[in-house]
Amino acid sequence: MKLINIKHPDEQVGFREAVLQGLGRDQGLFFPQKFQRLDNVPDLLEAPFVERSAAVLGHLVGDEIETAALEGMVSTAFDFPLECPALKPNERALELFHGPSLAFKDFGARFMARCLAEFHDGGPMTILTATSGDTGAAVAHAYHGQPGIDVVILYPKGKISPLQEKLFCTLGGNVRTIAVDSDFDTCQQLVKQSFEDPELKHGLGLNSANSINIARLLAQVCYYFEAAASVEDVERLVLSVPSGNFGNVTAGLIAHRIGLPYKRIIAATNINDTVPRFLASGQWDPNPTVATITNAMDISLPNNFPRVLALEAEHGVDLAGLLASVALSDEETRDALRALHDRGYLADPHSALAWRALDRSLQPDEEGVFLCTAHPAKFLEVIEETLDIKVELPGELEAVRDKPVLSRTIAGRMDALKGALLE
Ligand SMILES: *Cc1c(COP(=O)(O)O)cnc(C)c1O
Repeated sequence: MKLINIKHPDEQVGFREAVLQGLGRDQGLFFPQKFQRLDNVPDLLEAPFVERSAAVLGHLVGDEIETAALEGMVSTAFDFPLECPALKPNERALELFHGPSLAFKDFGARFMARCLAEFHDGGPMTILTATSGDTGAAVAHAYHGQPGIDVVILYPKGKISPLQEKLFCTLGGNVRTIAVDSDFDTCQQLVKQSFEDPELKHGLGLNSANSINIARLLAQVCYYFEAAASVEDVERLVLSVPSGNFGNVTAGLIAHRIGLPYKRIIAATNINDTVPRFLASGQWDPNPTVATITNAMDISLPNNFPRVLALEAEHGVDLAGLLASVALSDEETRDALRALHDRGYLADPHSALAWRALDRSLQPDEEGVFLCTAHPAKFLEVIEETLDIKVELPGELEAVRDKPVLSRTIAGRMDALKGALLE
């Protein structure tokens, strides 16, 4: 697979380089130079998820990873269930949250971890990342127990929920967690500074596991095939995706580009609506980011959007015909939570928002699937206050609830972090 830096198309790298580097020159995103169409989609849709996913990823990645190795990576990365229950005859929920961190980010993070392990040349490798809550859990679980890779996760002390903290700060082993006595921006700043410090960067082999890594994106292409496999007629399939950084939607568009013939896709956002307004007016005019109850999507500068535009400009994807984007308010999201609950389905707020966007626009001759990106128990407070119910904790959270938090605390300063890293 050949990839180009979207900002500097003269910078071309293979898949291995793109995964190891994360970003190209000037923070440019890597994106495949060409896509080939799959010629066996109907057969693939008959295959079980792991087998089909290995075939899809093999098609995308090409010969840089041997088939048997790739099959092993996919089967250990995607080792949790994926469900697609029907809520109505023509409406389904694609539940992507049955992995260890209870969110869809497990797909991307776990596949990327296996890619790094595969490409790792034996020197030191330390994944250093900052989290405001969710990414930390996905990254920690993805790398936990991966030989030769250390993980360090920074988070703002006291500013993530106690259960979120338990989900990634109780693992131990090769996963070190550091509570920083400051805010999330400081954590991110400290990560950036570490990468600029040669002693740390080379001495520890720092890598960032960040969300725009191409490996994470490609892994997410796989579950769109599962949505297609669960409906009667793919050509009538309408997808709805709760969107923040637009990685998930990009993966969906890639699935279409390589031959999955679904009808259309909706990118549903909260009132941080840069993209819906852009698609309506042609003006890129981000507003300041506003806090909402779907906080994983509180993003006004979606960092994957250049890839969406590249799909249109370089790869012939008809965005106007395929992609719609709508924004919903918190009130509409709460209303959607209630409407779903009345029908006997408990969704998290992000998933409920996507359902509402779908349900509003779905035509009688279409089949809809909305992506459920997080387990409802991850957003306990919003759900309990909206629905006036008690949410039961899933086994994953029950299991860690009484475990001790293993994090150490440091001051929000580079010397403190450096000391901790070099210890
Ligand atoms: C990250 C996240 C999203 C947004 O996904 P993008 O790929 O950034 O658009 C939606 N829902 C949940 C629960 C998330 O954690």
